[in-house]
Amino acid sequence: MNIHEYQAKDLLKAFGAPVGNGVVATTADEAVEKAKALNGDVLVVKAQIHAGGRGKGGGVKIVKTIQEMHAEADRMLGKPLITPQTGPKGRIVRSVFVAEGTAIDRELYLSLLVDRATGRIAFVASTEGGVNIEEVAAETPEKITTVDVDPASGLSGFHGRVIADALELKGDLAKQCGKLIKTLYTLFVEKDASLIEINPLVVTKDGQLECLDAKIGFEDNALFRHPDIEALRDIHEEDPAEVEASKHDLSYVKLDGNIGCMVNGAGLAMATMDIIKYYGAEPANFLDVGGGATTEKVTAAFKLILSDPNVKGVLVNIFGGIMRCDTIAEGIIAAAKETNIGVPLVVRLEGTNVERGKELLSQSGLDIIPADDLDDAAKKAVAAIGVA
Ligand code: ADP
Ligand code: MG
Repeated sequence: MNIHEYQAKDLLKAFGAPVGNGVVATTADEAVEKAKALNGDVLVVKAQIHAGGRGKGGGVKIVKTIQEMHAEADRMLGKPLITPQTGPKGRIVRSVFVAEGTAIDRELYLSLLVDRATGRIAFVASTEGGVNIEEVAAETPEKITTVDVDPASGLSGFHGRVIADALELKGDLAKQCGKLIKTLYTLFVEKDASLIEINPLVVTKDGQLECLDAKIGFEDNALFRHPDIEALRDIHEEDPAEVEASKHDLSYVKLDGNIGCMVNGAGLAMATMDIIKYYGAEPANFLDVGGGATTEKVTAAFKLILSDPNVKGVLVNIFGGIMRCDTIAEGIIAAAKETNIGVPLVVRLEGTNVERGKELLSQSGLDIIPADDLDDAAKKAVAAIGVA
Protein backbone atom coordinates (compact mmCIF):
# COMPACT_ATOMS: atom_id res chain seq x y z
CA MET A 1 0.00 0.00 0.00
CA ASN A 2 1.25 3.45 -0.88
CA ILE A 3 0.39 6.76 0.73
CA HIS A 4 0.45 10.39 -0.39
CA GLU A 5 3.39 12.74 0.03
CA TYR A 6 1.63 14.78 2.73
CA GLN A 7 0.85 11.64 4.73
CA ALA A 8 4.42 10.41 4.36
CA LYS A 9 5.68 13.79 5.58
CA ASP A 10 3.39 13.68 8.63
CA LEU A 11 4.80 10.29 9.48
CA LEU A 12 8.39 11.39 8.92
CA LYS A 13 7.78 14.41 11.13
CA ALA A 14 6.27 12.24 13.87
CA PHE A 15 9.44 10.15 13.88
CA GLY A 16 11.63 13.24 14.02
CA ALA A 17 12.83 13.67 10.43
CA PRO A 18 13.40 17.20 9.07
CA VAL A 19 10.35 18.10 7.00
CA GLY A 20 9.17 21.56 5.97
CA ASN A 21 5.79 23.00 6.85
CA GLY A 22 2.78 22.51 4.65
CA VAL A 23 -0.97 22.15 4.55
CA VAL A 24 -3.28 19.92 2.57
CA ALA A 25 -6.52 21.01 0.90
CA THR A 26 -9.18 19.67 -1.44
CA THR A 27 -10.32 23.04 -2.83
CA ALA A 28 -8.44 26.14 -3.90
CA ASP A 29 -10.33 28.25 -1.31
CA GLU A 30 -9.39 25.84 1.45
CA ALA A 31 -5.77 25.98 0.29
CA VAL A 32 -5.77 29.79 0.55
CA GLU A 33 -7.38 29.69 3.99
CA LYS A 34 -5.01 27.09 5.41
CA ALA A 35 -1.90 28.56 3.80
CA LYS A 36 -2.27 31.63 6.08
CA ALA A 37 -0.53 29.50 8.71
CA LEU A 38 2.58 29.15 6.50
CA ASN A 39 5.63 31.38 6.43
CA GLY A 40 7.72 32.77 3.62
CA ASP A 41 7.19 34.63 0.36
CA VAL A 42 7.44 31.55 -1.79
CA LEU A 43 5.02 28.63 -1.61
CA VAL A 44 4.90 25.43 -3.63
CA VAL A 45 1.62 23.85 -4.75
CA LYS A 46 1.99 20.10 -5.14
CA ALA A 47 -0.61 17.76 -6.62
CA GLN A 48 -1.16 14.70 -4.41
CA ILE A 49 -1.26 11.50 -6.44
CA HIS A 50 0.45 8.17 -5.88
CA ALA A 51 2.94 8.68 -8.68
CA GLY A 52 6.19 10.51 -9.05
CA GLY A 53 7.43 12.75 -11.81
CA ARG A 54 4.79 15.33 -10.87
CA GLY A 55 7.21 18.18 -11.44
CA LYS A 56 7.63 17.17 -15.10
CA GLY A 57 3.86 16.88 -15.54
CA GLY A 58 3.04 20.33 -14.14
CA GLY A 59 2.01 19.05 -10.72
CA VAL A 60 4.59 21.02 -8.71
CA LYS A 61 4.34 24.80 -9.03
CA ILE A 62 6.26 27.52 -7.25
CA VAL A 63 4.03 30.52 -6.52
CA LYS A 64 4.73 33.97 -5.13
CA THR A 65 1.26 35.35 -4.46
CA ILE A 66 -1.99 34.11 -2.93
CA GLN A 67 -3.76 34.71 -6.26
CA GLU A 68 -1.21 32.58 -8.07
CA MET A 69 -1.57 29.83 -5.48
CA HIS A 70 -5.36 29.84 -5.80
CA ALA A 71 -5.06 29.65 -9.58
CA GLU A 72 -2.58 26.75 -9.53
CA ALA A 73 -4.59 24.76 -6.96
CA ASP A 74 -7.72 25.36 -9.00
CA ARG A 75 -5.96 24.28 -12.19
CA MET A 76 -4.76 21.00 -10.62
CA LEU A 77 -7.75 19.94 -8.52
CA GLY A 78 -10.36 17.63 -10.00
CA LYS A 79 -8.36 17.09 -13.17
CA PRO A 80 -6.07 14.30 -14.28
CA LEU A 81 -2.35 14.85 -13.91
CA ILE A 82 -0.22 13.01 -16.44
CA THR A 83 3.36 12.29 -15.43
CA PRO A 84 6.00 9.89 -16.78
CA GLN A 85 4.79 7.43 -14.10
CA THR A 86 1.00 7.62 -14.48
CA GLY A 87 0.45 6.28 -17.97
CA PRO A 88 -1.41 8.24 -20.64
CA LYS A 89 -4.68 8.62 -18.71
CA GLY A 90 -3.03 10.21 -15.70
CA ARG A 91 -4.51 10.33 -12.21
CA ILE A 92 -7.23 12.60 -10.92
CA VAL A 93 -5.86 15.11 -8.40
CA ARG A 94 -8.12 15.13 -5.33
CA SER A 95 -5.93 17.13 -2.97
CA VAL A 96 -3.02 19.53 -3.09
CA PHE A 97 -0.24 20.04 -0.61
CA VAL A 98 0.91 23.62 -0.18
CA ALA A 99 4.48 23.69 1.12
CA GLU A 100 6.72 26.47 2.27
CA GLY A 101 9.33 27.11 -0.40
CA THR A 102 12.82 25.93 0.45
CA ALA A 103 16.00 27.67 -0.71
CA ILE A 104 17.86 24.70 -2.17
CA ASP A 105 21.62 24.34 -2.36
CA ARG A 106 21.86 20.68 -3.46
CA GLU A 107 19.33 17.94 -4.31
CA LEU A 108 20.25 14.41 -3.18
CA TYR A 109 18.65 10.98 -3.37
CA LEU A 110 18.08 8.67 -0.39
CA SER A 111 15.91 5.60 -0.08
CA LEU A 112 15.41 2.50 2.00
CA LEU A 113 14.05 -0.68 0.56
CA VAL A 114 14.07 -4.43 1.00
CA ASP A 115 16.83 -5.81 -1.17
CA ARG A 116 15.42 -9.10 -2.40
CA ALA A 117 18.82 -10.44 -3.42
CA THR A 118 20.28 -10.15 0.09
CA GLY A 119 17.01 -10.36 1.98
CA ARG A 120 18.04 -7.26 3.92
CA ILE A 121 16.94 -3.69 4.32
CA ALA A 122 19.22 -1.52 2.22
CA PHE A 123 19.90 2.19 1.91
CA VAL A 124 20.40 3.61 -1.56
CA ALA A 125 22.07 7.02 -1.78
CA SER A 126 23.17 9.28 -4.60
CA THR A 127 24.33 12.85 -5.07
CA GLU A 128 22.10 12.92 -8.18
CA GLY A 129 18.81 13.77 -6.50
CA GLY A 130 15.60 15.26 -7.87
CA VAL A 131 15.84 13.26 -11.06
CA ASN A 132 14.68 9.80 -12.02
CA ILE A 133 16.95 7.37 -10.11
CA GLU A 134 16.41 4.65 -12.74
CA GLU A 135 18.12 6.94 -15.26
CA VAL A 136 21.05 7.51 -12.91
CA ALA A 137 21.31 3.76 -12.36
CA ALA A 138 21.34 3.12 -16.10
CA GLU A 139 23.71 5.90 -17.16
CA THR A 140 26.01 6.55 -14.21
CA PRO A 141 25.71 3.60 -11.82
CA GLU A 142 28.93 4.65 -10.07
CA LYS A 143 27.00 7.59 -8.63
CA ILE A 144 24.77 5.27 -6.60
CA THR A 145 25.88 3.78 -3.28
CA THR A 146 24.02 0.89 -1.70
CA VAL A 147 24.59 -0.29 1.86
CA ASP A 148 22.54 -2.96 3.57
CA VAL A 149 21.87 -3.60 7.24
CA ASP A 150 22.67 -6.95 8.81
CA PRO A 151 19.51 -7.76 10.82
CA ALA A 152 21.58 -9.50 13.52
CA SER A 153 23.80 -6.52 14.34
CA GLY A 154 21.31 -3.85 13.25
CA LEU A 155 21.99 -0.28 12.30
CA SER A 156 25.23 1.34 13.46
CA GLY A 157 27.16 4.57 13.06
CA PHE A 158 28.92 2.93 10.15
CA HIS A 159 25.83 3.13 7.96
CA GLY A 160 25.41 6.83 8.64
CA ARG A 161 29.06 7.49 7.78
CA VAL A 162 28.97 5.51 4.51
CA ILE A 163 25.87 7.38 3.40
CA ALA A 164 27.11 10.81 4.49
CA ASP A 165 30.27 10.08 2.53
CA ALA A 166 28.32 8.97 -0.55
CA LEU A 167 26.24 12.16 -0.35
CA GLU A 168 29.37 14.29 0.17
CA LEU A 169 28.04 15.63 3.46
CA LYS A 170 30.61 16.89 5.95
CA GLY A 171 30.72 18.29 9.48
CA ASP A 172 27.33 19.18 10.89
CA LEU A 173 25.53 17.96 7.74
CA ALA A 174 27.13 14.53 8.18
CA LYS A 175 25.80 14.51 11.75
CA GLN A 176 22.31 15.44 10.55
CA CYS A 177 22.59 12.65 7.99
CA GLY A 178 23.48 10.09 10.68
CA LYS A 179 20.44 11.12 12.69
CA LEU A 180 18.16 10.96 9.63
CA ILE A 181 19.44 7.48 8.77
CA LYS A 182 18.45 6.26 12.26
CA THR A 183 15.03 7.91 12.01
CA LEU A 184 14.28 6.40 8.62
CA TYR A 185 15.42 2.96 9.68
CA THR A 186 13.27 3.06 12.84
CA LEU A 187 10.23 4.17 10.84
CA PHE A 188 10.83 1.50 8.22
CA VAL A 189 11.05 -1.33 10.76
CA GLU A 190 8.36 -0.14 13.18
CA LYS A 191 5.77 0.43 10.48
CA ASP A 192 6.65 -2.55 8.25
CA ALA A 193 7.43 -0.32 5.28
CA SER A 194 8.57 -1.75 1.98
CA LEU A 195 9.97 1.51 0.62
CA ILE A 196 10.89 4.95 1.88
CA GLU A 197 12.14 7.21 -0.88
CA ILE A 198 13.26 10.77 -0.25
CA ASN A 199 13.84 12.32 -3.64
CA PRO A 200 15.03 14.93 -3.29
CA LEU A 201 16.63 15.10 0.10
CA VAL A 202 17.98 18.63 0.00
CA VAL A 203 20.75 20.64 1.58
CA THR A 204 19.24 24.06 2.18
CA LYS A 205 21.11 27.29 1.66
CA ASP A 206 21.38 27.63 5.45
CA GLY A 207 23.02 24.25 5.85
CA GLN A 208 20.13 22.01 6.88
CA LEU A 209 18.98 18.67 5.52
CA GLU A 210 15.32 18.57 4.56
CA CYS A 211 13.08 15.84 3.11
CA LEU A 212 11.52 17.79 0.24
CA ASP A 213 9.57 14.91 -1.29
CA ALA A 214 8.62 11.59 0.30
CA LYS A 215 7.19 8.36 -0.94
CA ILE A 216 6.41 5.52 1.46
CA GLY A 217 5.06 2.07 0.65
CA PHE A 218 3.99 -0.57 3.17
CA GLU A 219 3.98 -4.34 3.16
CA ASP A 220 0.33 -5.32 2.63
CA ASN A 221 0.66 -8.54 4.60
CA ALA A 222 1.69 -6.60 7.70
CA LEU A 223 -1.03 -3.94 7.50
CA PHE A 224 -3.20 -5.75 10.04
CA ARG A 225 -0.61 -4.75 12.63
CA HIS A 226 -0.92 -1.06 11.78
CA PRO A 227 -4.49 0.27 11.80
CA ASP A 228 -3.05 3.81 11.84
CA ILE A 229 -1.32 3.15 8.52
CA GLU A 230 -4.28 1.31 7.04
CA ALA A 231 -6.39 4.40 7.79
CA LEU A 232 -4.21 6.32 5.31
CA ARG A 233 -5.33 4.13 2.41
CA ASP A 234 -6.74 6.04 -0.56
CA ILE A 235 -8.71 3.60 -2.67
CA HIS A 236 -9.06 6.17 -5.47
CA GLU A 237 -5.41 5.48 -6.20
CA GLU A 238 -5.88 1.74 -6.57
CA ASP A 239 -7.08 -0.32 -9.50
CA PRO A 240 -10.90 -0.61 -9.06
CA ALA A 241 -10.82 -4.30 -9.98
CA GLU A 242 -8.18 -4.98 -7.34
CA VAL A 243 -10.20 -3.06 -4.73
CA GLU A 244 -13.25 -5.17 -5.62
CA ALA A 245 -11.15 -8.35 -5.40
CA SER A 246 -9.88 -7.49 -1.93
CA LYS A 247 -13.50 -7.08 -0.73
CA HIS A 248 -14.07 -10.73 -1.65
CA ASP A 249 -10.70 -11.80 -0.27
CA LEU A 250 -9.48 -12.78 -3.73
CA SER A 251 -5.85 -12.38 -4.80
CA TYR A 252 -6.21 -10.62 -8.13
CA VAL A 253 -3.65 -8.74 -10.16
CA LYS A 254 -4.67 -7.21 -13.45
CA LEU A 255 -2.31 -7.80 -16.37
CA ASP A 256 -2.28 -6.73 -20.01
CA GLY A 257 -3.12 -9.96 -21.86
CA ASN A 258 -6.44 -11.34 -23.06
CA ILE A 259 -6.91 -14.76 -21.48
CA GLY A 260 -8.64 -14.39 -18.12
CA CYS A 261 -7.52 -16.99 -15.57
CA MET A 262 -9.39 -18.40 -12.62
CA VAL A 263 -7.23 -20.74 -10.62
CA ASN A 264 -6.98 -22.01 -7.06
CA GLY A 265 -3.61 -21.74 -5.41
CA ALA A 266 -0.94 -19.15 -6.18
CA GLY A 267 1.52 -21.72 -7.52
CA LEU A 268 -0.98 -23.22 -9.91
CA ALA A 269 -2.04 -19.72 -10.96
CA MET A 270 1.58 -18.87 -11.83
CA ALA A 271 1.99 -22.14 -13.72
CA THR A 272 -1.22 -21.43 -15.64
CA MET A 273 0.04 -18.00 -16.64
CA ASP A 274 3.38 -19.46 -17.71
CA ILE A 275 1.80 -22.09 -19.91
CA ILE A 276 -0.51 -19.57 -21.56
CA LYS A 277 2.58 -17.58 -22.48
CA TYR A 278 4.34 -20.76 -23.58
CA TYR A 279 1.61 -21.36 -26.15
CA GLY A 280 1.88 -17.83 -27.48
CA ALA A 281 -0.80 -15.81 -25.68
CA GLU A 282 -0.78 -13.50 -22.65
CA PRO A 283 -2.72 -13.83 -19.40
CA ALA A 284 -5.18 -11.03 -18.59
CA ASN A 285 -4.76 -11.48 -14.88
CA PHE A 286 -3.44 -13.44 -11.97
CA LEU A 287 -6.31 -14.76 -9.86
CA ASP A 288 -6.15 -17.13 -6.95
CA VAL A 289 -9.63 -17.93 -5.61
CA GLY A 290 -8.07 -19.59 -2.58
CA GLY A 291 -8.60 -22.92 -0.93
CA GLY A 292 -12.06 -22.73 0.60
CA ALA A 293 -13.94 -20.65 -1.94
CA THR A 294 -17.73 -20.47 -1.87
CA THR A 295 -20.08 -20.20 -4.84
CA GLU A 296 -20.41 -16.45 -4.11
CA LYS A 297 -16.65 -16.03 -4.18
CA VAL A 298 -16.31 -17.88 -7.48
CA THR A 299 -19.14 -15.78 -8.93
CA ALA A 300 -17.39 -12.60 -7.79
CA ALA A 301 -14.15 -13.85 -9.33
CA PHE A 302 -15.86 -14.54 -12.61
CA LYS A 303 -17.43 -11.10 -12.75
CA LEU A 304 -14.07 -9.57 -12.02
CA ILE A 305 -12.39 -11.40 -14.89
CA LEU A 306 -15.16 -10.46 -17.29
CA SER A 307 -15.12 -6.80 -16.23
CA ASP A 308 -11.82 -6.48 -18.12
CA PRO A 309 -12.70 -5.52 -21.72
CA ASN A 310 -9.45 -7.06 -22.99
CA VAL A 311 -10.56 -10.56 -22.01
CA LYS A 312 -11.20 -12.61 -25.16
CA GLY A 313 -11.35 -16.00 -23.47
CA VAL A 314 -11.37 -17.50 -19.97
CA LEU A 315 -9.41 -20.42 -18.64
CA VAL A 316 -10.63 -22.02 -15.43
CA ASN A 317 -8.04 -24.31 -13.92
CA ILE A 318 -9.06 -25.86 -10.63
CA PHE A 319 -7.41 -28.58 -8.70
CA GLY A 320 -10.01 -29.50 -6.12
CA GLY A 321 -8.39 -30.43 -2.85
CA ILE A 322 -10.07 -28.43 -0.12
CA MET A 323 -11.93 -26.64 -2.90
CA ARG A 324 -14.57 -28.94 -4.40
CA CYS A 325 -15.05 -29.11 -8.15
CA ASP A 326 -18.85 -29.02 -7.85
CA THR A 327 -18.62 -25.71 -5.95
CA ILE A 328 -16.56 -24.30 -8.78
CA ALA A 329 -19.05 -25.60 -11.31
CA GLU A 330 -21.93 -23.99 -9.40
CA GLY A 331 -20.00 -20.73 -9.28
CA ILE A 332 -19.37 -20.79 -13.01
CA ILE A 333 -23.04 -21.52 -13.73
CA ALA A 334 -24.25 -18.81 -11.34
CA ALA A 335 -21.83 -16.27 -12.81
CA ALA A 336 -22.84 -17.23 -16.33
CA LYS A 337 -26.46 -16.56 -15.42
CA GLU A 338 -25.66 -13.16 -13.94
CA THR A 339 -23.19 -12.01 -16.57
CA ASN A 340 -23.22 -12.57 -20.25
CA ILE A 341 -19.96 -14.48 -20.68
CA GLY A 342 -19.81 -13.98 -24.44
CA VAL A 343 -16.23 -15.31 -24.76
CA PRO A 344 -14.91 -18.87 -25.08
CA LEU A 345 -14.65 -20.63 -21.74
CA VAL A 346 -12.19 -23.48 -21.23
CA VAL A 347 -12.55 -25.44 -18.02
CA ARG A 348 -10.15 -27.91 -16.54
CA LEU A 349 -11.33 -29.50 -13.31
CA GLU A 350 -9.50 -32.14 -11.33
CA GLY A 351 -9.77 -33.53 -7.83
CA THR A 352 -12.53 -33.73 -5.22
CA ASN A 353 -16.03 -34.22 -6.71
CA VAL A 354 -14.69 -33.79 -10.24
CA GLU A 355 -17.33 -36.05 -11.79
CA ARG A 356 -20.16 -34.13 -10.13
CA GLY A 357 -18.58 -30.86 -11.26
CA LYS A 358 -18.27 -31.96 -14.87
CA GLU A 359 -21.83 -33.27 -14.82
CA LEU A 360 -23.18 -29.95 -13.54
CA LEU A 361 -21.32 -28.07 -16.28
CA SER A 362 -22.42 -30.35 -19.09
CA GLN A 363 -26.04 -30.17 -17.93
CA SER A 364 -25.93 -26.40 -17.60
CA GLY A 365 -26.38 -25.71 -21.29
CA LEU A 366 -23.35 -23.39 -21.17
CA ASP A 367 -20.99 -23.42 -24.11
CA ILE A 368 -17.94 -24.80 -22.32
CA ILE A 369 -14.77 -26.25 -23.82
CA PRO A 370 -13.72 -29.04 -21.45
CA ALA A 371 -10.02 -29.84 -21.05
CA ASP A 372 -8.29 -32.85 -19.58
CA ASP A 373 -5.12 -31.38 -18.17
CA LEU A 374 -3.25 -28.10 -17.89
CA ASP A 375 -1.44 -28.48 -21.20
CA ASP A 376 -4.64 -29.33 -23.05
CA ALA A 377 -6.45 -26.45 -21.32
CA ALA A 378 -3.84 -23.88 -22.29
CA LYS A 379 -3.71 -25.05 -25.92
CA LYS A 380 -7.49 -24.91 -26.18
CA ALA A 381 -7.70 -21.47 -24.58
CA VAL A 382 -5.03 -20.04 -26.89
CA ALA A 383 -6.72 -21.65 -29.93
CA ALA A 384 -10.12 -20.33 -28.83
CA ILE A 385 -8.95 -16.72 -28.97
CA GLY A 386 -7.42 -17.36 -32.38
CA VAL A 387 -3.75 -16.97 -31.46
CA ALA A 388 -2.63 -20.49 -32.33
P1 ADP B 1 8.08 14.81 -8.11
O1 ADP B 1 9.20 13.92 -7.68
O2 ADP B 1 6.77 14.12 -8.11
O3 ADP B 1 8.37 15.53 -9.40
P2 ADP B 1 8.98 16.65 -6.00
O4 ADP B 1 8.30 16.88 -4.71
O5 ADP B 1 10.24 15.85 -5.96
O6 ADP B 1 7.92 15.98 -7.00
O7 ADP B 1 9.23 18.06 -6.65
C1 ADP B 1 9.94 18.21 -7.86
C2 ADP B 1 10.97 19.33 -7.72
O8 ADP B 1 10.33 20.54 -7.32
C3 ADP B 1 12.02 19.06 -6.66
O9 ADP B 1 13.08 18.31 -7.16
C4 ADP B 1 12.43 20.45 -6.25
O10 ADP B 1 13.41 20.97 -7.14
C5 ADP B 1 11.16 21.27 -6.45
N1 ADP B 1 10.44 21.45 -5.14
C6 ADP B 1 9.56 20.61 -4.58
N2 ADP B 1 9.13 21.04 -3.38
C7 ADP B 1 9.78 22.21 -3.16
C8 ADP B 1 9.81 23.17 -2.08
N3 ADP B 1 9.05 23.01 -0.98
N4 ADP B 1 10.60 24.25 -2.22
C9 ADP B 1 11.35 24.42 -3.32
N5 ADP B 1 11.38 23.58 -4.36
C10 ADP B 1 10.61 22.48 -4.29
MG1 MG C 1 10.41 13.71 -6.13
